[in-house]
Amino acid sequence: MTNPSGVPKGRHLDVNERGCSVRIYISADMEGVSGVVSWDQTGPECHAEYERARLLMTQEVNAAIEGAFKGGATYVLVNDSHGNMRNILIEHLDPRADLITGSPKPYGMMQGLDSTFHGCMFVGYHAMAGVEGVLSHTYAGSVLEYIINGQVMGETGMNAYFAGEMGVPVLFVSGDAAVAREAESLIPHVRTAQVKEAMGRAAAWCMPPQRARALIEETARQAVSLIGTVKPLIASRPVELALRFATAGQASAANLMPGTVRLDGLTLGFTAQNYTDAFRAARAMISLAART
Ligand SMILES: [Zn+2]
Repeated sequence: MTNPSGVPKGRHLDVNERGCSVRIYISADMEGVSGVVSWDQTGPECHAEYERARLLMTQEVNAAIEGAFKGGATYVLVNDSHGNMRNILIEHLDPRADLITGSPKPYGMMQGLDSTFHGCMFVGYHAMAGVEGVLSHTYAGSVLEYIINGQVMGETGMNAYFAGEMGVPVLFVSGDAAVAREAESLIPHVRTAQVKEAMGRAAAWCMPPQRARALIEETARQAVSLIGTVKPLIASRPVELALRFATAGQASAANLMPGTVRLDGLTLGFTAQNYTDAFRAARAMISLAART
């Protein structure tokens, strides 16, 4: 997409009245949105419940956009990061932001991020597989553990390290209390907005949308001021990736990828020269596993 000057949209450096450019990237998932507690709400096959959930998701994203601009952002790019990645209702999206919608896209939940951004916000995120959190999982149902240099992490960590390699810190995470704990233990100084608390994997104590949005907006506004305080997460090199699958069949399928090593019946290892390659390798391995 280009603007009339021929500069790719979103890549030119917008400036505020102080002459500063503050570019914020939002990765938006759905399982962490308040009111969403069941898989019956999270896919297009779920009809009426899904239509409600995608509107709630769009409105929480708008709250984060509002907070980002109130905090001093000059540009916001939103990447729809859930399921088919066509959930956000663009006709209801804050018109100041741009949206990446649809899939597949090479970098999935982090498509469109580059080193020109000053901070990331993760909206509607959920806890990692195996944790008591609302709809907790890691990337796909086939993955039990995603491990980087010996540390088990969920999508928050998986994507925060991707951003870190570009020098971009994660400033803000919203979702349930479990993902907030996960983010805070991983990213010093990150701001979190807890909009619900798990009462089971498919039940939660929820904030009604108006309060959830107010909390997200205010927390996102404050988070912009953390640029320069929150450090990017950078994985030491070489990066040792391990993926633990739910079944031996999935591990066997993923093991077709050259360079993967079978560590045990369920677990594959892969050594990458940098985190971006580890991230790409994990995505490739999970795609292969999905064929079983
Ligand atoms: Zn999702």
